[in-house]
Amino acid sequence: MIAPDDKVLVAVSGGKDSLGLWFALTELGYEADGLYLDLGISAGEYSSHSKQFAQQLAERIQRTLHIVSVSEEMGKPVPELAFASKRETCSACGAVKRYLFNRFALENGYTVIATGHNLDDEAATLMGNVLRWQLGYLARQAPVLPAKNGLAKRIKPFIRFTEKQVALFTILNRIPYIEQECPFSEGAASLFYKDLLNKIEERSPGTKWAFYSQFVEQIQPLLDEKFPEPELRPCIRCGTPTTAEICSVCRMKERANRLVARLNSEVNS
Ligand code: SF4
Repeated sequence: MIAPDDKVLVAVSGGKDSLGLWFALTELGYEADGLYLDLGISAGEYSSHSKQFAQQLAERIQRTLHIVSVSEEMGKPVPELAFASKRETCSACGAVKRYLFNRFALENGYTVIATGHNLDDEAATLMGNVLRWQLGYLARQAPVLPAKNGLAKRIKPFIRFTEKQVALFTILNRIPYIEQECPFSEGAASLFYKDLLNKIEERSPGTKWAFYSQFVEQIQPLLDEKFPEPELRPCIRCGTPTTAEICSVCRMKERANRLVARLNSEVNS
């Protein structure tokens, strides 16, 4: 996943997985820095609390933590961008995160973006994609996505570990992390799938890993061949690779700006 001369950027959220990953990589000798995205989620002060945990670990391991504010970069926090663009909050959030992590990595010389996805996360995503036969998503659900024009390499080093194992690793290494879930995760389908998979695992230990690893080894490469990623071209607004003329994040920003302009004109008239 990581070549000796790679410069690693860990996507740090303040939760156990990303903090555990950042700690593990530095323990293994990788010169990994962190990037915390302030999503501007004010409910329960989620964003400000999670940032504090990321800062604490950065101080302990003596690595740089970059902090980027979504409001400053995009003009609005994630919940407002989602509302204004009529997207589900998590869908808008995911698009903004991928966009800003990639842009930051490329602009600052990082060659690899590492995320803390664990086996439970990936198996749940796989289950969701299989239940709806989302072949395009399945084709790209790999633990390593190589770099290509305008997109940094993305890796998921924790995919062999379950959520419980990562939590144990984090606790044993005395890494404080935010235990509060993001308020927008309530009712998420992924949590339901995780629950189902845990029940299956209890009855038949090893199923979760078999489900995921057999997919990655045997099915994903076939799909990758059959469903090659559509051709990407630079967004005419920001230059990010996209399949459309204007990338989804620029479209979201523009919709949000139009809504604000409309509301302002209604207030003034
Ligand atoms: S639960 Fe949704 S809104 Fe919250 S951090 Fe995750 S993707 Fe973003």
